[in-house]
Amino acid sequence: MRTSQTLLPTLREDPGEAETVSHRLMLRAGMIRKVAAGIYTYLPLGLRVIRKIERIIREEMDRAGAQELLMPIASPAELWRETGRWDFYGKELLRFKDRHERDFCLGPTHEEVITDLIRREVRSYRQLPLNCYQIQTKFRDEIRPRFGLMRGREFIMKDAYSFDKDEEGARLSYQKMYDAYVRIFTRCGLSFRPVEADTGLIGGTSSHEFMVLAETGEETIVYTEQGTYAANVERAEVLPPKETSTEVPRALRKVPTPGARTVEEVTAILKTTPQRLVKTLLYTTSKEPIAVLVRGDRTVNEIKVKKLLGVTDLQLAGQETVMTLTGAPIGFTGPIGLKRVRLVADHEVKALRNFVVGGNEADTHYVDANWDRDCTIEEYADLRNACAGDPSPRGDGALRVARGIEVGHVFMLGTKYSKAMSATFLDANGKERAAVMGCYGIGVGRTAAAAIEQNHDAKGIIWPVPVAPFHIHLLPLSQSAQVSEIALSLYNSLIQSGIEVLWDDRDDRAGVKFNDADLIGAPYQLIIGDKGLAQGTVEFKLRKDGTVTRLAPDQALKHAQTLLLDGSSAL
Ligand code: ATP
Ligand code: MG
Repeated sequence: MRTSQTLLPTLREDPGEAETVSHRLMLRAGMIRKVAAGIYTYLPLGLRVIRKIERIIREEMDRAGAQELLMPIASPAELWRETGRWDFYGKELLRFKDRHERDFCLGPTHEEVITDLIRREVRSYRQLPLNCYQIQTKFRDEIRPRFGLMRGREFIMKDAYSFDKDEEGARLSYQKMYDAYVRIFTRCGLSFRPVEADTGLIGGTSSHEFMVLAETGEETIVYTEQGTYAANVERAEVLPPKETSTEVPRALRKVPTPGARTVEEVTAILKTTPQRLVKTLLYTTSKEPIAVLVRGDRTVNEIKVKKLLGVTDLQLAGQETVMTLTGAPIGFTGPIGLKRVRLVADHEVKALRNFVVGGNEADTHYVDANWDRDCTIEEYADLRNACAGDPSPRGDGALRVARGIEVGHVFMLGTKYSKAMSATFLDANGKERAAVMGCYGIGVGRTAAAAIEQNHDAKGIIWPVPVAPFHIHLLPLSQSAQVSEIALSLYNSLIQSGIEVLWDDRDDRAGVKFNDADLIGAPYQLIIGDKGLAQGTVEFKLRKDGTVTRLAPDQALKHAQTLLLDGSSAL
């Protein structure tokens, strides 16, 4: 492709709207433009990257035995009512009415539509297993669309759905997808890690998220260096402490802590540490108010609390509720004498003696509190987020913490949707059974953004070869006859051998061309200048580290072929 004939509007300045590297660089490299919040146009360069990722996904899905189909973006409310998700999904589901006043939505995911198809078309166990996938536009009216393609409202997803006749088959289908995902993200040139993920209220079944490791990731993962354990922090189990404090209980005292609301303020006044303080967080749920107690230096894992209580709604109580339930403002809540509220505590605090808690009275705390004598906890459970240094639940070392971008998700669904929608088949004995399902998603745009988060420097993007919009950026440094002639002939021969070349044929200064080339990030630059030609050479420059190889022009094609074509699956 020639730059002069391509819609490739690079920007010199950082666009103000972009908070992350990938968003900034996608805008600056002319890959995407915003149409509305979380809604983008993919320009030619951006689309090339999207298509590359899609191609890798297609090849690996097909290889794993999945079949491609394409479902509609709009779907009728009736299907969503059958599974209860018309009400449950909330505002992320963009709903509208057609001219006949019938309710529709834009698909945020397609379990309902695919299950409807399969229940109509599959009658017998002989037609199973089946795995169908599509690569298609999704719409989710995200509360906070941000970071460009990373969290859009309209975005491209590969979603696959497997249907099996039993649990064992479903596990096999799941494993095939897991393996396909490992191949997909490896082929994309990404450094990633599959981690155990939360399964929501369904529970029991398996789920893994594929995380691209990047500082800017929205997700927190824990893993062990030597072991095999890796999990999303939302899900990571924390073991109960091995030892209980042997301190002798001291007498309970109520002490003034004027204006001290936070753990830092309270421990400063009382000259103690967060490890000796138990904080009490009040939540409201649809069932009842609840107080969750964790050590002062820990954070509550709300997903674990929801699971323990069997609720889907859990909100931190506001000032007014806290006042009504405790008689004190936020910051002084404690378990002692707290009535009308269910008390649950993280199992770590059970081991404490002589700890600090809120006094349920403004500007007051208790010191030297002890369980049972001073207050009774209804249930101790694993309710906090795992931290660096915690022992792995698999016993394979201490946990480390890293940030990740969730690019893919594999999930065993069981019979949740097939039962709700009566997607049944007749087994070998003529008995009617519900199909056992799995679902598997990959965010295509998010994968492109993650590739940039992981591969860039101060000058711009450094594409991994397999997802690069072009392999070589051809940079003639002047308009002289000899430079132009060599550029044209190299361009033609490279293109003919299947190498993708962006030819900067603009009449611009060398500096402008270099800046754009570094920004756009093709893995190789082929530089042709009058000075080099006078010595009979052109330059092959590696974008990653700037390494330059000087070659005779007639060797450039061979060199490129060796780098890009020989024995690699790079193209
Ligand atoms: P998240 O927790 O990030 O919102 P999710 O759990 O809602 O993701 P899934 O429903 O599992 O995501 O969707 C499958 C894949 O689609 C995700 O792994 C992610 O790569 C991608 N994805 C989800 N939401 C978005 C979005 N708003 N923008 C871009 N990609 C997305
Ligand atoms: Mg989401």
